[in-house]
Amino acid sequence: MIKNPITTSIFDLFKIGPGPSSSHTIGPMKASYDFLKELNALSPNQIDTSLQIQIHLYGSLSATGKGHGTDRAVIAGLLGWTPETCDPVLFSALLKDTTEQYPVKVHEIEIPISAESIVFEKGKYDSPYANTMVLKLLRAEQVVLQHEYYSVGGGFIYRKGQKVTTSTLTPAYPYTNMKELKAQLQSNGLTLSELMYANEIALTGASRKEIDKKIDAILDFMHKAVKRGLKDKRVLPGTIKLRRKAPLLYEKAKKLALTSDSFLIFLNAYCLAASEENAAGNIVVTAPTSGASGVIPGITYLLKNHFHYSPNEMREGMLAAAAVGFLVKHNASISGAEMGCMGEIGSASAMAAAMLTYCATKSIHAMESAAEIAIEHHLGMTCDPIGGYVQIPCIERNAMGAVKAYNAFLLATAGDSSLQKISLDSVIKVMKATGKDMSKKYKETSEAGLALSATEC
Ligand code: SF4
Repeated sequence: MIKNPITTSIFDLFKIGPGPSSSHTIGPMKASYDFLKELNALSPNQIDTSLQIQIHLYGSLSATGKGHGTDRAVIAGLLGWTPETCDPVLFSALLKDTTEQYPVKVHEIEIPISAESIVFEKGKYDSPYANTMVLKLLRAEQVVLQHEYYSVGGGFIYRKGQKVTTSTLTPAYPYTNMKELKAQLQSNGLTLSELMYANEIALTGASRKEIDKKIDAILDFMHKAVKRGLKDKRVLPGTIKLRRKAPLLYEKAKKLALTSDSFLIFLNAYCLAASEENAAGNIVVTAPTSGASGVIPGITYLLKNHFHYSPNEMREGMLAAAAVGFLVKHNASISGAEMGCMGEIGSASAMAAAMLTYCATKSIHAMESAAEIAIEHHLGMTCDPIGGYVQIPCIERNAMGAVKAYNAFLLATAGDSSLQKISLDSVIKVMKATGKDMSKKYKETSEAGLALSATEC
């Protein structure tokens, strides 16, 4: 009997939403949307115009929340907007005027909120997670309702005291780590994609056809972000005034189409394009996070347009990527605030390496080796975004993560992958321990490293 198996849906890992950060934008939007629902669950007798809403942001949400759009995300959620459906143009216009008041509708009453309702707390807070937010409904000093939320990376949230009920159903083939996953494949005579489909069907009730349609839609959103980013030459929002680079690289790649460099320049351009769209606050797909939302779109755009993989091969690749994402999320973390950048770009690179290798070989051993190599060479990578914007080093880091994924695929498929000395489970354990040991300064707080060179930009 496998205790506490992985029950995450593929579509909880790959989520559509506005950039630039899944933990600082998508998570807080979902948390404040949940708080809005809780407000509306109160008795109408408790609601009147004397009430106020206050939002307190702690830890990494406080340190880099401004650059990551956390304040706008909190307002958006309280206005009833969700990441999947919110209009990125309206979203980026929120709080442009810091005096503007927004009406939060609770039953028939409108409670105003503004920039002043959001407090970026500087002090320490006793919380089990790096990204914590507390939402309060107050009547003068008296608390009418209060909830504490944790944004744990990739847009996943927990509410304090709420039982974690990601699914009431159980997977068809339970596993918690790579060793158990391989045992399930072997004892049931399944391929990885057959197991992934069976589990998704058992967990969500969706049919195979519906799952395929949703994977195709996710790929379509990823590739739309790449295409938009290849054309847009505008300067990115924020005080760094960073120029987009993807269109330039794309033009260069087309001119060098017959040289040996062109394949890498195309890949770099695709990754930068999706990452720059994320930095601009446009719609992207978490893979597994928004900060790392350029790696897999860049690789899948390459697979589709240069290697001409079929829709079915692309889907199988996405399932392999999801399997690795689940293992990291379950056994370490995909959050930059908990693991540094190895949790975001490291996980994305491992997922992309798994995808490339599974598409090319269908070998579970080679896929495991590729994912292990990709994580191994991201261990200890810090998160220190300049000015709290998901731009430097984040955008180029997506391209580097994709190139490392490609090389991990080449290394894993050269020779006998079953002779690989380090297992994926071991390297994920090391990742968790490294993230735990890493100073808080290097975990999405912009208090050290590159972030301190902000004045040079
Ligand atoms: S440095 Fe890495 S983890 Fe940190 S915000 Fe940028 S992409 Fe995310």
